[in-house]
Amino acid sequence: MQAVYADVIIDISHEKVDRPFQYRIPEHLLDKVTVGCKVTVPFGRGNTSRTGYVLAIGNPPEWEESRIKEISEVCDKSITAEDNLIALAAYMKETFGSTMIAALKTVLPVKKVTKAVEHKTVHALKDEKELQLAAFNAASKHRRAQARLLDALCESPEIAYPLVTGKLNVSPQTVQSLEKQGYCKVVVTTEYRNPIRFRDESRKCVSLNPDQQKIVDSIEEDRKQKKYGTYLIHGVTGSGKTEVYMELISKCVESGKQAIMLIPEISLTYQTVSRFYQRFGDQVSVIHSRLSEGERFDQFERAKKGEVTVMIGPRSALFTPFPNTGLIVIDEEHESTYKSETSPKYHAREVAIYLAKKNGAQVILGSATPSLESYTRAKRGEYTLFELESRATANTLPTVHITDMRKEFEEGNKSIFSRLLQNKIEDRLEKGEQTMLFLNRRGYAGFISCRSCGEVIKCPHCDVSLSEHRDGKLYCHYCGFEQRKVTKCPACSSPYIAGFKAGTQQIEELILKQFPTAVVLRMDADTTKNKDDYEKILSRFSNREADILLGTQMIVKGHDFSGVTLMGILAADLSLNGNDYRSGERTFQLLTQAAGRAGRGEIQGEVVFQTYQPEHYAITASATQDYKAFYEEEMLYREMLLYPPAAELLAVQLTGPDEKGIEALAAKLALQAESMALQDPPVRIGPAKAALGKKKDLYRQVIYYKHKDYETLIQVKNEMERYLNTLQLRRENVQFDFNPMHMF
Ligand code: ADP
Ligand code: ZN
Ligand code: ZN
Repeated sequence: MQAVYADVIIDISHEKVDRPFQYRIPEHLLDKVTVGCKVTVPFGRGNTSRTGYVLAIGNPPEWEESRIKEISEVCDKSITAEDNLIALAAYMKETFGSTMIAALKTVLPVKKVTKAVEHKTVHALKDEKELQLAAFNAASKHRRAQARLLDALCESPEIAYPLVTGKLNVSPQTVQSLEKQGYCKVVVTTEYRNPIRFRDESRKCVSLNPDQQKIVDSIEEDRKQKKYGTYLIHGVTGSGKTEVYMELISKCVESGKQAIMLIPEISLTYQTVSRFYQRFGDQVSVIHSRLSEGERFDQFERAKKGEVTVMIGPRSALFTPFPNTGLIVIDEEHESTYKSETSPKYHAREVAIYLAKKNGAQVILGSATPSLESYTRAKRGEYTLFELESRATANTLPTVHITDMRKEFEEGNKSIFSRLLQNKIEDRLEKGEQTMLFLNRRGYAGFISCRSCGEVIKCPHCDVSLSEHRDGKLYCHYCGFEQRKVTKCPACSSPYIAGFKAGTQQIEELILKQFPTAVVLRMDADTTKNKDDYEKILSRFSNREADILLGTQMIVKGHDFSGVTLMGILAADLSLNGNDYRSGERTFQLLTQAAGRAGRGEIQGEVVFQTYQPEHYAITASATQDYKAFYEEEMLYREMLLYPPAAELLAVQLTGPDEKGIEALAAKLALQAESMALQDPPVRIGPAKAALGKKKDLYRQVIYYKHKDYETLIQVKNEMERYLNTLQLRRENVQFDFNPMHMF
């Protein structure tokens, strides 16, 4: 019989071995080895035992046959990566750049079969009389334990196993012996862990308004015609997007398919999940990082078996093994957490669209502040765009006031609160209404600004702010430009120019000094170290145990507090000065979302933006909730500088223990890409020191490539990967990040 060979990818995350190796399938394993299954093989010179996945079977031998090793065994305990998951992993490796094994690990988020929770009971198999007789006989032979169990079974023919071995003090051997004699049997039922523990709350049913209904009808119509497109619902917070998702999910489930609902991890709160539970009951499951491995495994098992038809979760819920996914919803689609921070650095939106194409499913994206990427595609007609322009309930959007902090400073107010905000906080304290104060520190990276005029020191070549390093010099993290420390504002010559350094803790102290009667809750990384802290603070605030909730962006996401009538945003522009091209977009998203937090109850809400840049379009557009105005301005900037979505951007990220070595490698990689002599080569920026030049004793370098065509950037990546494979690097690491969310 002719030998059959399998291509196996070895489970070591290292570029060096990122290619399949051929193994012979021994005869006794021929019918056990399948594509996607996990196997043990001898690897390397020492024939160390390693595990790997079978990628293909039946290719002709690449080597002299006597030199090809044999597969040792098939790992039964593992889930097999089914063919389509391997295809998905291959797509992710190609599109986002990673090793094959890292891609496989990503699409198989649950790798070990964990035992289901078992319920064991002992059932009587004889009637009462016979049991009584047997008990009598056992007792007379001094088999006391047997007698005890037989007596107990007379009284109740079904006893929980732990009770038998515990309270009755009967050994497993004794149970077995009675089982053999035919008096009883042990019945094992397995139960999947269900992470949702809800009281059955009343189901309130809303009937959709005409705008919502139109969206549902239109998408439903497409589904019936087997048009599997991508849809973007742009709707202000509270416009009823979630109701639309639920209606579509319900139709999808009625048609016999399953639905995946992605939400950012931070919104996976009781509030959101219970809404789905009220509508769909036990058909819903959730998956998230706080579940144990066993709980996660069970959710995927339940999905596979059809016990649940709706899976809610962050990014990784995309890999739910539903038999027939018909709908993937991505709520808050602009959130940067939809992009993986580890290799493969995939974006959930792109993977969802890929999966949907393969499976015949629809993708719904929703946001009050869509990503520029999605909105651009919608405008080009790649996605279908729907807009929901007003809130679904009677309450209106809040009034926004912008206060100019330069003026406050000029007029002698050196406090971090503008006079307007102080008055409004005072007023709320008197009326017993609640205030939220949001310190916008996102993207904050040591930039320098002038307290008199708001001027921010920027790179003359890149239009991003320079960052102050410990050595006092200012650096650009895109191109490596550097300059000396400034002591005087270049615009107005004021000496009050420095980095903005106030933290939440200092602000809490200032609040207490200024408003001694106020009860303040603070939410930031320090006060939310334990698992439940986050929910605890929110529920205390929701129960009106405090007047003011002060926090970082954590307080902004998706919570409705009906008592909040004032939202203060300290340093609204702070995040504008983060040193990357998404700063404006991120600021607009945060401010729009934050403004949406006030006035969710009966009373009209008010918002105060404190800023040094009151005329900046991200500030003015978010104050009026004018997405389109923001979009137009921001796109001009992206187009001028060829940033996504005006072009595609590839970041090649290098790390290594020695600075010179990593610089040399970056230079070599850049040269290698140059040598491809592409007809229409991408624009290269760098190599340069990364935004974070050194982390955990590793030096970091980055090279950027810009091109209109994603495919060209993939070619660059592939060429670099090919070259890296010939180098066999041990100390350096190279990763690819397409259209990155954050600076490296
Ligand atoms: P979004 O997801 O856009 O923020 P939601 O779907 O959460 O909006 O809706 C906001 C609020 O309005 C919720 O309390 C919801 O129950 C309510 N709502 C939405 N649609 C309707 C409707 N058609 N009729 C009545 N109430 C609605
Ligand atoms: Zn100045
Ligand atoms: Zn620069």
